[in-house]
Amino acid sequence: MIKKYAVFGNPIEHSLSPLIHSHFANSLKLDLSYKPILVTLGKFEEEAKKFLQGGGLGFNITLPFKQEAYNFVDSKSNIAQITGAVNTISFKDGKIHGDNTDGVGFIRDLKKNNFYEMKDKKVLLVGAGGAAMGVIPNILNEEPSLLKIYNRTYDKAKNLCEKFKDIGKIEAVKKDLSNNDDFDLIINATSIGINNSSFELPQDFFNIGTVCYDMSYGKASHSFMEWAKKNNLKFYDGLGMLIEQAAESFYIWESKRPLISDELQKLIRNKL
Ligand code: NAP
Repeated sequence: MIKKYAVFGNPIEHSLSPLIHSHFANSLKLDLSYKPILVTLGKFEEEAKKFLQGGGLGFNITLPFKQEAYNFVDSKSNIAQITGAVNTISFKDGKIHGDNTDGVGFIRDLKKNNFYEMKDKKVLLVGAGGAAMGVIPNILNEEPSLLKIYNRTYDKAKNLCEKFKDIGKIEAVKKDLSNNDDFDLIINATSIGINNSSFELPQDFFNIGTVCYDMSYGKASHSFMEWAKKNNLKFYDGLGMLIEQAAESFYIWESKRPLISDELQKLIRNKL
């Protein structure tokens, strides 16, 4: 019988995950299906049970169901527990198990694909939503000399710092206060680009060597990319993270590491 996997979300039609996972399966000559499932708001649990009882072996979860997935599972990985979000569901020892692969995906893309080490670097994370929360423990694990969080809504940044203060040194920052830290790495974890708003940070937040990493990709990364370009800063988008977090989910399900080829990257870039 063919192995059944899926991605749950709303909206879901633009998800690149089916393309990525079918490429992974082909690269390992595995016969499996991976379908996008549009879930009506309020129906996550019902749809999840239906899929798993119908023979589904696992699925990914995207917006807006990562917290519902967290509440749905029987057991969780440490990182899912810490971040309060689940993006990958699998069976472990007969139980429905939740994981969050976003942080691993981000770190792998930054280190393995872009050869950037965060150890002893001054890092600014912009945003305080689900994406920011999902990567903070992994960032702190890399031992930057400083991790500051800037968010439009300051209180949300402060709350995140409170949540993670036992894992490492982390501080909320205000844009309009003078700041003595020109950051080595600026990570955009906001959805600014989705609604075409422009990205702005004060001059004293960066220097000529600052590297910019956008967790968004495609059109959603244009605002931050334009800002980085205007200031002559090196820029990476989040497509590599998307592929790496998918590869980690694939590994959780199949215990095999898929090949991440240039061909796959090109294929996806052409779809954006
Ligand atoms: P979210 O939970 O809705 O959080 C959105 C964040 O963006 C909040 O911090 C919000 O600030 C900020 N924001 C939105 N519009 C803004 C604006 N006009 N000006 C300033 N700040 C604004 O969303 P999320 O789940 O964190 O996702 C954020 C982005 O990360 C999305 O583009 C998503 O695609 C991307 N992402 C990528 C990957 C990947 O694999 N590459 C994985 C996860 C997420 P307030 O708190 O002030 O509202």
